[in-house]
Amino acid sequence: MLVAGVDIGSTATKAAILDENKQVRALSLVDTGANVVRAAERAFQEALRRTGLEAWDVTFTVGTGYGRYRLPFGDLQVTEISCHTKGACFLFPRTRTILDIGGQDTKAIRVNERAEVTDFSMNDKCAAGTGRFLEAAAQVLGLELGELGPVAAASRKPLKITNVCTVFVEQEIVMHLARGCPVEDVLAGVHQAIAGRSLGLLRRVGLEEEITFTGGVACNPGMVRALEERLKLRLNVAPESQYIGAIGAALFAWERAAHGEAGRQKNTSCAEAGTGPGGG
Ligand code: ADP
Repeated sequence: MLVAGVDIGSTATKAAILDENKQVRALSLVDTGANVVRAAERAFQEALRRTGLEAWDVTFTVGTGYGRYRLPFGDLQVTEISCHTKGACFLFPRTRTILDIGGQDTKAIRVNERAEVTDFSMNDKCAAGTGRFLEAAAQVLGLELGELGPVAAASRKPLKITNVCTVFVEQEIVMHLARGCPVEDVLAGVHQAIAGRSLGLLRRVGLEEEITFTGGVACNPGMVRALEERLKLRLNVAPESQYIGAIGAALFAWERAAHGEAGRQKNTSCAEAGTGPGGG
């Protein structure tokens, strides 16, 4: 038995395929772009290709993420809050607080010992303090995303970045560079600004250990470090952190399949179906 989870995020679409033992058999990631349906198809097909099996071998598929209602081959939609909780508590069973920083939003989630959501808070009104904010900083500094953490780690005297607005931070960075401030100090300041903002969100739901960091921004070691320094504790960070929503979705699919529910047969030949209104 195989089950799938597809997380259609604002920036990246992730797919996870699990087997009957809840082992992750394949993961894949594609840019979401303007056509969410096509992104979902591509992510699912790529993960499937890595298993060497066919679409009809997948018993049940759960969609999550902001584009979940447009998943043409999904059997069920589940919120990102629930899927991140499911995935985080599966990988780190002692999780009590989750911080998810994605491409365009940040969420803080509190869970109890039964891995049930007891509270959550999210910043989705603007991209301040999200992956988009880091992408803007990387662009203006001429760095790749993967370079952000290592460069910031070289800082001895992080600058205080006052802007958390994605638009204004670019101007602030340019101004600091023009004054001769080292790139690493500017970048470390950017990471600290996001850490401060995330801490505010975490405090709204109440901080309890263990804290699990999920979402694509958890791939940035500079962000992990800035948060750990601010929180004065270690975070749980999985190598699959960007896929935790998709893994959580696949775990919901596993539960449905284990209870004998079969999803509809997958029609994965409708990659052009997402060109109508609402795509993206
Ligand atoms: P969403 O689900 O909202 O589409 P993700 O959780 O997939 O977002 O995270 C996307 C973000 O992850 C990007 O905006 C980027 O900032 C960040 N990211 C992804 N990979 C890396 C990496 N290797 N290093 C640093 N940041 C990364």
